Amino acid sequence: MVAVRANALVGPDLEFVENVRFQVDSDGTIIDISEEEKPAEYVLPSSYLLIPGFVNAHVHVGDAYLKDHTYGLSLDEAVGPTGVKYKKLSSSTTEEKISSIRNSLEMQVNNGFTSFIDFREGGLQGINLLKESLVDFPIRGLILGRPDNKDPLVEISQQSDGTGFPDVFSLDDVLCEEANILKENKVGHLCAIHVSESLEVISRSLATFGKRDIEVAIDQLDLDFVIHATYADENDLQSLKKNNISVVCCPLSNLYNGLDFPPLKAIIDEGILLGLGSDNVFCCNPDPFRLMAFSLYNARSTKQLISPKDILKALTVNPGLIIQRKIGQLSVGYSGDFLGFDLNNPNLSFSKDVYAALTMRATPIDIDFQMYKGRLVKWKNQK
Ligand SMILES: [Zn+2]
Repeated sequence: MVAVRANALVGPDLEFVENVRFQVDSDGTIIDISEEEKPAEYVLPSSYLLIPGFVNAHVHVGDAYLKDHTYGLSLDEAVGPTGVKYKKLSSSTTEEKISSIRNSLEMQVNNGFTSFIDFREGGLQGINLLKESLVDFPIRGLILGRPDNKDPLVEISQQSDGTGFPDVFSLDDVLCEEANILKENKVGHLCAIHVSESLEVISRSLATFGKRDIEVAIDQLDLDFVIHATYADENDLQSLKKNNISVVCCPLSNLYNGLDFPPLKAIIDEGILLGLGSDNVFCCNPDPFRLMAFSLYNARSTKQLISPKDILKALTVNPGLIIQRKIGQLSVGYSGDFLGFDLNNPNLSFSKDVYAALTMRATPIDIDFQMYKGRLVKWKNQK
């Protein structure tokens, strides 16, 4: 049992509350939130602000060893079936794969993520390599596996938190039926897929199925969320909303790959839960601050006015709601994952809006306090 007291952004709306005390039990769950003056092991100075740990809603932790190998290439040349990524995945040694995964985990912890949702390649071996590495890091990994030639979907799903399909072209009727039955029979089992990342994907889907890929995915799979939707149109978004499917966008990755900035405002306005992910580590480091600032700046330049608080939610509260896990907000029953920022730090001082400061000014060096499941990861004043 441990207690932390500080000013904090509390609950699903990240409401600013002064001098609040969080009690976390030995399993790492917040069991009480109170403004009463009771003792606490960690009393943060009044200039500090406590927020939920960041959740990276979409990442491929396995491809860090390809950092900057694909800049300037097309999406297909980078991640297509014969692209740079799959050549490396199939030719690299187990040791190389492990060091690539560990590099991604280390970056995510240092940059303030306390959870991430990974699209895992490499079948059962890929899942096990990530699980073995996770033991050494203060971060939670939700693993969405995918079937391959060796390992069928049923076995993948037993060892993972769900299924992450690469695209609609990887689906067939048998696979979809299997995925839907698995989802029905296993509480909390997730299902997601990459969609409408490029205009080429949509054209190919129209040519193959006579329908846009979002429609194909919705027709075939019982989905929790889709990744990208960069070129989703109004009808696509309405169908997603109608089917209660959330969207995770990856703006940094889209622009790195020469694609357009996603329609974040249209997604929010449609009432769809929006999450943000850093996507492939080979194209951008998993850094929540860069992702938030970049999203807000680019939204402005594409005439999409989005509030900093909505973007902060897309990396905290919303991913937890999307995957229906008790993470991403400081509420009773949720995991005690905290980040603390000293608002007197040079990057943050003088700001009149904490949400703007956190999303557009903070950097990883401003994380002065970090806790994962009630266990201290770092505290600047007490190294
Ligand atoms: Zn992806």
